[in-house]
Amino acid sequence: MKKVLVVDDDQKVLTLLKPELKKHTDIEAYFAHSYTEAMNLVIEHQGKFHAALLDIHLPDAKGEEIVELATFYNIPSVILTDITDEKIQDSLVKKDVINIISKDDLSSIVCAVTDISRTLKNYDTTILIVDDSELYRKILKDSLKKIKLEVAEACDGIEALEILENNKNISLVLTDYEMPNMDGLELTFRLRKKYKKDQLGIIAISVVEEQNIISKFLKIGANDFINKRFTHNEIVTRINANLELLDLFGQIKDMANKDFLTGAYNRRYFFDTGDYIYKKSKRNKSSLAVAMIDIDKFKNINDTYGHDTGDIAIQEAKKILDKNLRDSDLMARFGGEEFCVLLEDITFENVRLLFEKIRTKFQNNIIRTSKYTITYTVSIGVYFGSSDSLEDMIRLSDEALYIAKESGRNRVEIKS
Ligand code: GH3
Ligand code: MG
Ligand code: MG
Ligand code: MG
Repeated sequence: MKKVLVVDDDQKVLTLLKPELKKHTDIEAYFAHSYTEAMNLVIEHQGKFHAALLDIHLPDAKGEEIVELATFYNIPSVILTDITDEKIQDSLVKKDVINIISKDDLSSIVCAVTDISRTLKNYDTTILIVDDSELYRKILKDSLKKIKLEVAEACDGIEALEILENNKNISLVLTDYEMPNMDGLELTFRLRKKYKKDQLGIIAISVVEEQNIISKFLKIGANDFINKRFTHNEIVTRINANLELLDLFGQIKDMANKDFLTGAYNRRYFFDTGDYIYKKSKRNKSSLAVAMIDIDKFKNINDTYGHDTGDIAIQEAKKILDKNLRDSDLMARFGGEEFCVLLEDITFENVRLLFEKIRTKFQNNIIRTSKYTITYTVSIGVYFGSSDSLEDMIRLSDEALYIAKESGRNRVEIKS
């Protein structure tokens, strides 16, 4: 959970804000109705708020005092105001806030909360700045740090490629055009061969204003272009907008590839990705294993405790598998209470040890819901080796599962 400070004395606004904030389950909101209350909250929490939503028209503070308080504690802020005075607006713009939104209707509230939510996601988002100028890297870095992004730096295209190779967490690359060794165009060209637009965002940033450079960047796959004479506000708005778009792509992909109940991959994704892994392992003559994990007597759980508790038991199974498998293992929910795993580069002995460990973890796991305490076991069928196809490996692991069930359940059966 991330802490958000909300300062507003307007009851009407708060009535709209509260349900909107509740939609974001990662937000823990703290409310203050005056400058004094805000100050007390900030002191009580030692300034540790992840973001703030501020009204600047408060009963005990006029103008920008509240913004200054947030800035002092490095809390990124969105201003929600009914002040239309241009002078105040202009001076607020200079305060490096995330956004200034005028309160007029529900859409402005939604907009403000979206900005807050974006900022919270930024804490776990990394951007790579590629520029040969140390000064520009610093200017950009300062702006990005203010909106709480993690920043990596490279001084040319070659170094950028190396960093990306070793850091899979980078969501967006901000690249300069003119650089020694490898310029921004070449870098963009190379990156686009490897990552699609929805996998890695690229924003070109340069003093070059010639239309043909901008269009070249966009044609070879840059998501956006920013002129180097940017203001803090421009860079923040552009970057946040691009990150939101990338997240949206991710959500659409998740909807297609993941199961709604558990968040595990679905069958379709398993076969798409599994086929690729299967073919690669055939070429490299490396070892493969497929495991089918099925909850024992699951119908009893549903019948005794109800379907909702059954759902919790299935979600728990996904968590146990996640915790005990390697990142490179491909796991999917195959049916109701059945999961399938494809493992590459693993020995027979390690397969046996791994699934014996997983079986024991399930056996010892106690699930406590608000109403019940339940336990259950799983049976696991594994096929180790390489048969004619991935489908065939799955069929053989299913046969092993059948034997595990027939021999009394809560067992691991391995075929090879
Ligand atoms: P076995 O030990 O032989 O595997 O017995 P079982 O009861 O686990 O197996 P069976 O295949 O007979 O029953 C699986 C049950 O899972 C039947 C179905 O109603 C239930 N189920 C399937 N999908 C879901 C789901 O998403 N949520 C819940 N709660 N139950 C589900
Ligand atoms: Mg340069
Ligand atoms: Mg079952
Ligand atoms: Mg089943």
